[in-house]
Amino acid sequence: MAQVLKRPNGTEDVTPRDIHKWYTVEQVARNVAESYGFGEIRIPTFESTDLFCRSVGETTDVVQKEMYSVIAKETQFTLRPEGTAGTIRAMLQNSMLNDAMPQKVYYLLSCFRHERPQAGRLREFHQFGLEMVGSAAPCADAEVISLAKSVLDTLGLKNIALNINSIGCPKCRAEYHKALRTYFEARKDELCETCLSRLERNPMRILDCKSPICGEIAKDAPVILDYLCEECDTHFTQLKSYLDTMGIAFTVNPKIVRGLDYYTKTVFEFVTTDIGAQGTVCGGGRYDGLIEQLGGQPQPALGFAMGIERLLLTMESQGCDFLQPKQCELYIAPMDAAAVPKAMEIAQSLRAEGFRVEYDLIGRSFKAQMKYADKLGAGFLLVLGENELSTGEIKLKNMATGESTACKLDETFTDTFANLAISAMFSDTLDGIKF
Ligand code: ATP
Ligand code: MG
Repeated sequence: MAQVLKRPNGTEDVTPRDIHKWYTVEQVARNVAESYGFGEIRIPTFESTDLFCRSVGETTDVVQKEMYSVIAKETQFTLRPEGTAGTIRAMLQNSMLNDAMPQKVYYLLSCFRHERPQAGRLREFHQFGLEMVGSAAPCADAEVISLAKSVLDTLGLKNIALNINSIGCPKCRAEYHKALRTYFEARKDELCETCLSRLERNPMRILDCKSPICGEIAKDAPVILDYLCEECDTHFTQLKSYLDTMGIAFTVNPKIVRGLDYYTKTVFEFVTTDIGAQGTVCGGGRYDGLIEQLGGQPQPALGFAMGIERLLLTMESQGCDFLQPKQCELYIAPMDAAAVPKAMEIAQSLRAEGFRVEYDLIGRSFKAQMKYADKLGAGFLLVLGENELSTGEIKLKNMATGESTACKLDETFTDTFANLAISAMFSDTLDGIKF
């Protein structure tokens, strides 16, 4: 027998059994983003490699170690490792940045990074993210953070800490880089090879190194907050006061630098300790230099991305509610082949009214059909035998209560079923989810 092939390491399947969990996150994300005036954008899964080198940054882990790149027909492409670069590229290419500001878009997409797979760290993962372009004001930072928090709250998540920091602008960083270089030079021999090369080109990246030794050395490194220029300092102070106004609790963590080079000023993370080491469920910040770097007119901008798998892991570990899976509302059991055409006809007319209807497609015995209807969790059962076909008199059995209702298979049937179904309260509703 041929061997069943396995999916690649670090990827996951989502089957119909679990898809309602994804719908929950996606629905809440969309609703909240739209309530803040963000519109959905869809971008390609791959872009020219150059786009990520120019935006994410040549000295980041993502570009140095994690990109899936291919040369196809002599052009180099990369599967997107994140959503911001492609989104800004698309906003420029579609002239969105000539329109009224701010421009606000959100996305739900897959990302690809060649990392060591573990719980909460995959090679193909999914993000809900958004970008706001055109505002340099600190209230925009507060708005974006409040949106992220609202998504987490609506999903029912608890114990999620918000950490914020400012990593300044190129102006404050000149001084800071000097201080960092002096600090790390002294312990140069202990740094990993990647960090050694970062020392000259981008010493801040050393603070984000995942190697425990570099991490240990970085512990006592100078912090950027001591080097902020006046403009960046005022921006950060304003943001903190807006967060207070909005009642959003936060901790200033001067160690956060984030893994992508394009950030300026505000950076933030929402972190939980409930799912082990990979506890950052959301990361974001301001990136005022990126658009110019990608060839556009300079525009301030900011955004965040949430890892959907990490959100789901946290929701599961905290016992959060999910949207109910959609179940079969009526199962029709034809007793023999002669009843199949009628079953088809009933199913079609109810489906046209929006009901979820199934009937036997295998030619199972009556007993096996009952078992199957049970397994499906069908709301109602309709048995179609010779008698039902000839008289048009049928019974609809409510599978939860066991109660049977007699009715006629005529033009009133659809309405009769609709009334019964409504009173049985089939719920497509967002059980347990507050809006
Ligand atoms: P980490 O420090 O955990 O590697 P990151 O700084 O690389 O995160 P970002 O690039 O900011 O992450 O991506 C935003 C979010 O996407 C993260 O906060 C996380 O929730 C999720 N994420 C990032 N990488 C992965 C991955 N390999 N697998 C699953 N989720 C991920
Ligand atoms: Mg990472």
